[in-house]
Amino acid sequence: MHRTTPWYRAQMDAVYPTGMREQVLTAVAAGVPLDAAMETLGLPDEVAYGRARRDTGFRNRLYQALMDGRDSALNHGKRWTYAHYRCRCPECQATQPQCTAARRWLELYAYTS
Ligand SMILES: [Zn+2]
Repeated sequence: MHRTTPWYRAQMDAVYPTGMREQVLTAVAAGVPLDAAMETLGLPDEVAYGRARRDTGFRNRLYQALMDGRDSALNHGKRWTYAHYRCRCPECQATQPQCTAARRWLELYAYTS
């Protein structure tokens, strides 16, 4: 079978199925860093970000979970917070030049800092 997009998507669904996605969203919303939540499943956080790139519903829930679970004591939307506190909330991710997805999500949902 050729490695077509449907093939790739089926593989990704097998690697990171709904139950696992729910588990990760719950953990992240409770404040567990995404990479740590994914690590308990034996997966890199790129798998979650990859899913978010092609699955709008999951993307919105992931970014919302990152907002809900972020440490309210930190000053968000700062490169310093991203780099030194390793905060991966959408506002902190948006400070990274390559992270246009987080910036777009913030604009869509009016989380402007
Ligand atoms: Zn943050």
